Amino acid sequence: MKRFFGALVFICSLVFSSPSYPQELTDEQTQEAITFAQRAATYVLYHEIGHLFVAQYELPILGREEDVADNIATLMLLLAEDEDKDNILLDSAHSWFLSNDSATDDVISDAEFYDSHSLDIQRAFQIICLMVGADPALFAEVATQVGIDDDRQESCQFDFAQLTNNWLRLSEAFIKKTNEGAKIEVIYEPSDEEFEYAAAIFQNGEILEFVAKEIEENYSLPAPARFIGKNCGTANAYYDPSKNDVVMCYELTARFLDLIVEDMLRYPEG
Ligand SMILES: [Zn+2]
Repeated sequence: MKRFFGALVFICSLVFSSPSYPQELTDEQTQEAITFAQRAATYVLYHEIGHLFVAQYELPILGREEDVADNIATLMLLLAEDEDKDNILLDSAHSWFLSNDSATDDVISDAEFYDSHSLDIQRAFQIICLMVGADPALFAEVATQVGIDDDRQESCQFDFAQLTNNWLRLSEAFIKKTNEGAKIEVIYEPSDEEFEYAAAIFQNGEILEFVAKEIEENYSLPAPARFIGKNCGTANAYYDPSKNDVVMCYELTARFLDLIVEDMLRYPEG
């Protein structure tokens, strides 16, 4: 996982040369912002893999698939018990809080309530809830910091245990036991000029390669899949079941960068 966020330094110049990035950031802050954007994008990749698993393994779900995909992503990262993966979860939760804070409207619209996704702030709390549910000693402080009270922190332990039991039971059927299983092809399409800096940050994190290898090694995929980085015209990511493609849009990495840079400039003391 270490090499994941390795060669960042030269990307700083790319970020600084991007018109949307103010010069006030120090080199250290720029590197922090890049790592944050890579981690937040990585969580979204695991979320899309959640959709891929639901489709490819025909997982029984009785709830909104978007919540299921989030929980699969969180559990895959959390059960690894790896500090780098914990940091992906923490930065992802932070990204949802920032996204919630950046909403221009104070009133939540009906469209947000009936959306297939939970509200950004709910997605943030759910990640932290499962973290504190998994390891109260390690994550109680962050759970308290974000405002989850003691009662809920305790019931999060039940939520974590229940979801983990069900996930381990379901995934047992497709955990790789022999050498069988289809491959994942990684493709980076060239970016248009506007998002070249974000594409470089995304590609240099080697996120698609690393996660593709992890999935290939640990799960027996029934059909070949592709992980694709590309421009989409919107800050998004999606799973296309007709092609078994996971698409990560460069605009999404740019959006995560925007959120954290705005936050750094607003609260320069951190
Ligand atoms: Zn989704």
